[in-house]
Amino acid sequence: MAKKQDKLWHAMDSQRTLEALETSREQGLSGSEATARLNRYGRNELPEGKKSPAALKFVKHFNDVLIYILLVAAVIMALLGHWTDTIVIIIVAIVNAAIGFVQEHRAEQALEGIKNMLSPEAQVLRDSNPAAIEAAELVPGDIVLLNTGDRIPADLRLLSSSNLKVEESALTGESTSVEKQTEALEEDAPLGDRTNMVFSGTTVASGTGIGVAVATGGKTELGKINQSIASVEEIRTPLLQQTARFGKMVSVVIVAVAALMFGFGYGLRDYETGELLLSVIGLAVAAIPEGLPAILSIILAIGVQNMARRKAIVRNLPSVETLGAVSVICSDKTGTLTKNEMTVTSVVTSMHEYGVTGTGYAPEGEIIRDEDKVADPEQDRTLKHLLICGVTCNDSVLTEEQGQWKLQGDPTEGCLLTLAGKAQSEVTELKTRSKLPFDSEYKYMAVLTEYEGRSVIYIKGAPDRLFEMADRQAEDDGETPFDADFWNGQMQAHARKGQRVIGLAMKELPEDSSPEQIDHDDLKEGLVLLGLAGIVDPPRDEVVDAIRECQNAGIEVKMITGDHKETAMAIGEQLGIGDGKHSIEGRELDNLSAEELKEAAQKYSIFARTSPQNKLQLVEALQSSGNICAMTGDGVNDAPALKRADVGVAMGIKGTEVSKDASEMVLADDNFSTIVKAVKEGRRVYDNLKKTILFILPTNGAESFLIMASILLGTMIPLTPIQILWVNMVSSVTVSLALAFERIEPGAMKRPPRNPAAPLLSGYYIFRILFVSVLLGGGTLAMNMSMLSNGYEQAVVNTVTMQTIVLAQMFHLFNCRTELGPAIRKGFFDNKAVFVVSGLLVVLQLSITYLPFMNRVFGTVPIGLPYWSFPLLMGAALFVIIELEKAVTRGIIRRRHESVDASGNGDHSAAA
Ligand code: ATP
Repeated sequence: MAKKQDKLWHAMDSQRTLEALETSREQGLSGSEATARLNRYGRNELPEGKKSPAALKFVKHFNDVLIYILLVAAVIMALLGHWTDTIVIIIVAIVNAAIGFVQEHRAEQALEGIKNMLSPEAQVLRDSNPAAIEAAELVPGDIVLLNTGDRIPADLRLLSSSNLKVEESALTGESTSVEKQTEALEEDAPLGDRTNMVFSGTTVASGTGIGVAVATGGKTELGKINQSIASVEEIRTPLLQQTARFGKMVSVVIVAVAALMFGFGYGLRDYETGELLLSVIGLAVAAIPEGLPAILSIILAIGVQNMARRKAIVRNLPSVETLGAVSVICSDKTGTLTKNEMTVTSVVTSMHEYGVTGTGYAPEGEIIRDEDKVADPEQDRTLKHLLICGVTCNDSVLTEEQGQWKLQGDPTEGCLLTLAGKAQSEVTELKTRSKLPFDSEYKYMAVLTEYEGRSVIYIKGAPDRLFEMADRQAEDDGETPFDADFWNGQMQAHARKGQRVIGLAMKELPEDSSPEQIDHDDLKEGLVLLGLAGIVDPPRDEVVDAIRECQNAGIEVKMITGDHKETAMAIGEQLGIGDGKHSIEGRELDNLSAEELKEAAQKYSIFARTSPQNKLQLVEALQSSGNICAMTGDGVNDAPALKRADVGVAMGIKGTEVSKDASEMVLADDNFSTIVKAVKEGRRVYDNLKKTILFILPTNGAESFLIMASILLGTMIPLTPIQILWVNMVSSVTVSLALAFERIEPGAMKRPPRNPAAPLLSGYYIFRILFVSVLLGGGTLAMNMSMLSNGYEQAVVNTVTMQTIVLAQMFHLFNCRTELGPAIRKGFFDNKAVFVVSGLLVVLQLSITYLPFMNRVFGTVPIGLPYWSFPLLMGAALFVIIELEKAVTRGIIRRRHESVDASGNGDHSAAA
């Protein structure tokens, strides 16, 4: 039996469809009916894709070179009869896999949470009013309004369409967009030919339409093939890949060195085979940084969560790192740099100039003619036409709720509704027959309507575009030829004040013609200009500081706007972008050679009247001169530029779903300063990743040094493999986590962006890791030798050795809190985590030393108070020496910067 949602909707006409779904095109569903249907049909969500079972995920974490080495070690230990060691090593292997598993789970959850933040909205008609609802709450029978760039939220039977084209590759694999219509089709029409239907998960490439939801959630065509559209991509970051490769390489080297050591010890020193094997295994275990990969992914996951808290939603992990290296941010103007709260403050017709009072969307205020009297549209016919054009050629809706005026739709359009509301006499919106929605490519919007029995096209858009098409201008009692000089002068005068200027025009069609559709060709000529509206859109206050911060951080900010150049320069000057005198227009860019374009992209800060293609050109030009480029965008046509940019940034509020899909990051508040916060967090995260590496590797280095020296010198090995594992796990897994919470370095936003090509382990890093390893390993070895020669028991020597390495690392943690800056500085107590883990570490060390159970398992013994002096002295000495070393390095860098102009790559660690 065919279920309700399995009907052949495409074969029904729209009226029968509405009846079958018990809904109405004019009113939509009522709120209560929608709730009832939501309970009946469930949420409009795709069933979760198959997830691999948790057990399998856990087992996957054993597939690791490190674990293999540990397991081989366990087997050898078992063969030698060291059962406790075998068990401990196996436990460590399991703990390690568990940490990896928990980490993966946490990261997944973090991304899942972010996915929810990205959940798309749908525009529907409920209780006769348009409303934006969460797409998941859409139910069969909902009337859905579609606009260019929307992701279609459910399977819809179309009720009306205006130049509607839909990109269905998500469903059909076909990348060209399909033109849609509303007539009923044959029952056997295949899916790809059902042109009166649009399907969940596909996107509106252009045009607008209205449809009724016929299937939601798993019942949609997309749901049937059970293909979820992942909105958050998870990829390993370049840094994680680099460390994974590094880890593998280290493991291979270690196995080779261990084999060599075994050969050496066996041939040239008279070790017992069993004891030698133990040492060699100890070496292998010591040298491998077990906790490093897990720690690095925790730091990244924390970074992603921090960014989300600051309203920057990162859609894929590697961008956290890329953000830290961004050298130029190309930003849209409207809504990102400005508030996108538009108010018409002036109107110009060929006969009069009008000032408009009142702010905000409330239609409270007056239209004052020529500075002396309140205008009456019934007398000023041109003004009347202009206002009718403004409200008819308009997709936005203004509503009042408890005295608050709310706008649904584009603010540029909303402010024209407010303007009409301020008029002395009522301005009625006319019914439209066809519409060309606003497109930043064409920069205008047009509607076909009827006025006093005659077909009329109303058009509004960028004045310079309309000027190209106008040949007459309206006067109250007729028309006169278009006066280009007058209008250009008016436009510039308003734009120079930072106003966005909109032109309004009309075209009367011949009396005998009554077309049903219009397209761009109908507008090429014969327009009658009605006038201009000057709109104020104030800059966002916080952006001024954000831009200054970028400039201090060596990040260039460029404004790429569709607006007029005078408007753009004026707003730019208010914000600190450009000098208010220089800018270049999109069409000038079109005529440049690749080389000239590269130059222009560097030289200018304001790019006006740009098209989405210009954005792509600019990203490519900036990248070709070595920039790491962040680019904002909101429209469907911005997708190629967003994809191409190193960090594509989509707008969460006004952005289309298509632009969000093409981006690495989505701004929940559309605000430029959020990008800067994300860049800052990116720099913090990257610094902390590096500090963690700088902190962890010397532990391994020092232990390896100690063991190799002992084998070479033929002395007792001062640590057993399980003691080594203990040291590695406590110092890397617990202690280093504190570095994830380290605040941003004071100078992090004052230095130039990181050179992304610089290797992770710069010369200075390698030096520092080796230096600390040798200091720590050497110092401990010296203490060992002296203790052994004084006849101390092996267990005591081992215990003191372990304390020395762990406590010294605790001190070293404080060195690593800043890469090169002094450890004791302002903000020393800011990161509480460092103190918490240090306390924890002391407790752990006391327990391994004094708890009988721990003594048995780890082969440690309780030691007297005096024995603690060496570990503490060693730690303090290491701390002081590294601080001195950092000071010397700082001095060298400063001198170098003074002698060489440090204009190029600013990675100070690479330079050292
Ligand atoms: P950006 O956000 O990239 O800074 P923008 O949003 O100001 O730029 P567009 O939306 O491409 O740029 O607008 C370009 C021009 O088109 C504007 O200067 C304005 O004159 C006109 N315009 C903008 N919105 C509309 C609209 N809804 N209807 C008609 N014309 C519009």
